[in-house]
Formats: sequence, C-alpha cells, structure tokens
Amino acid sequence: MPVGDIKAAAKRKAKEKVVKTAKRKITRASGNNSGGGGRSRKKGSKLPIILLIILVIVGIGVAWHFGFLDGFFESGGEAQPPAVVAVDGQLEMHFIDVGQADGVLIITDGGTMLIDAGDHRGSGQRLVNYIQDLGITELTYVIGTHPHADHIGGMHIVLDTFDIGTLLLPPVSHTTQVYERMITAIENNNVNTRVAMVGDVIHIGDAVFTILHPNDEDHWGLNCWSVSVRMAFGETSLVVTGDAERPAEMAMLESGQYLSADILRVGHHGSRTSTSQEFFDAVSPSIAVIQVGEGNRYNHPHDCVMERLSDAGVRIYRNDHHGDIIITSDGRNLDVRTAR
Ligand SMILES: [Zn+2]
Repeated sequence: MPVGDIKAAAKRKAKEKVVKTAKRKITRASGNNSGGGGRSRKKGSKLPIILLIILVIVGIGVAWHFGFLDGFFESGGEAQPPAVVAVDGQLEMHFIDVGQADGVLIITDGGTMLIDAGDHRGSGQRLVNYIQDLGITELTYVIGTHPHADHIGGMHIVLDTFDIGTLLLPPVSHTTQVYERMITAIENNNVNTRVAMVGDVIHIGDAVFTILHPNDEDHWGLNCWSVSVRMAFGETSLVVTGDAERPAEMAMLESGQYLSADILRVGHHGSRTSTSQEFFDAVSPSIAVIQVGEGNRYNHPHDCVMERLSDAGVRIYRNDHHGDIIITSDGRNLDVRTAR
C-alpha cells in the first residue's frame, strides 16, 4: 500500500539521519577537546591526527558504556506511547475456547472486532454459536490473520452468518479447500475485503487498533505474514500477532512502532518459534493469554515460552485450562473471568 510504503521509507530515513547526526556530534565534541592542537598542527605532523582518532574512539566508547547511544543504535523499541484517548463505558475481550486454534472477539460500545475464526473441525461453529449467544448479528471488522486452517477454518461460517463490515487479510493466498471455502463465502456474501498493512489504524468506538504487521517485504512461510495488531482502549492495551514467528516479531521491533501492552495474546499458541525474548520485552505484558488445545500434537505451549512468561511474573491464562477467557476493561483496570 502506498501510504505504508511512504511511512516506512520516511521512518527509515529519519532513523538514518538521527544516527548520522549522533556520529557527527560525537566527532565534533571530541574534535573541540583537541581543538587547539588541531589548528596549530604543522603540515606532515601525524601526532594530532592520531590523538584525534584516539579521542573519537574513546568518546564513542564512553558514550556507549553509559548508554548515551541506546536510542541511536538500537533497532527499535524506543517508540513513544501514543496519546491516551479518553473512553466511555467498557470493552470486552473474549478469548474464545476454540481448541488448538485462534479466535478473539472484542466488543466495544461502537462495534466489534473478530480476530480469527476457529478451525474447520467444529471449533469454528462453536465460535459462531458463542458470538450468536451474545446477541451479536454484525461484526464491524474481521481479521483472518493468515490462511492456515486453525485461523480461517471457521471463516466461511462467520461470513455466512453475520453481517460483516470489513474483512482484513494479509496479501497472501493458499491452495487448501479451507482457503477456497473462505474465498467462496467472500464472493457469495459480497464481503468488503481489504489487505491489512503495517501502519493502518482502525477506530471502533473508543478502541484504537493499529496494524503492526505485515510490512511490504517478502516473508518466509505463511505464519510470518500474520496480520498483527495492537489495540488500545484508554490506558489498557492488547497485542495479538496470529502465528507470527521470530522474523516477523523482529520486523515489528525494527519498524519502531509502540508494542508495549498489558495483555499479550501469546503468538503461535505458545510455540518456541514465537515470543522471542526481544519481542516479549518490548510488549512487556502483565497478562498472557494462550489459545491452545488440550493434548495438541505440537506440544504447545512450549516449555521455554512458559518459562519466559513465568520468569517475568506474568499472569497466564490458557484456553485448555480455563475454557473461555473474558477480560473486561474500563479504560484503566482489567478484570479477568474464566469459564473454569
Ligand atoms: Zn495457528
């Protein structure tokens, strides 16, 4: 998308400029320290130049040691938090128990957002029943994070059942029956469909959704195309990354976007391919939700991810242990309820 391209290019340029300015400043400051020597040096005398070089190296070393360069040379994570928007009422996040699959429903005063639709083996139907039981007939936005069956398996039922405002998809396709069924349902129901791209911002009621990924680069494997989103409601926030793996997490970090959130819907069902230390540190959640099926054949969630979460003192909720997980926000406080 052109807007995304322009923004990304602008950010890259701005970062390059900051680094260059920083280097220039350090060089100039060190040069001033040896200023007199520099001006009075005789032609052919190499001593002042060597001194200058030593001073520059020492200067950079000292600045590095004391962390003065952190903002200039780190690849991301220094993003400023977006302004907090005052909110009315409450927002509900439903992490629906869809077994070894994903499905997150967010309900605001101004509409709804569904991220993924359960699988094709019955949990998609369960997700649809769950949403219908809440009295919902219209979904303002639906995201199919990526074309794997445990994310879009139930999408055709969702599209056939509810009035859909906009369906957001990544710019990749698949060759499976599950994917074809979704495409047929899009056509049959004439669903307004758009490609999601980093930098897109969606307002639903007082909730602000920022698309963190994908960017316009090529990604290996469908997981790394996962549409990822940060939702902010007042002072509270949630990050959902589909099955985005480490390379995609690194791309989000390098994009310089603000990733910090109270709740992390743990990527890729708690697989070791995701929730890298760097990404986890940037999100720095207090609550983690893992959408995972009991006794799944992948052994999700993996021990190293569970250790990472518990070492950081994060409160962990899992669909296989807790059933449906509902987190309510009033814009300031979070309240967690679970089915069991
Ligand atoms: Zn998955």
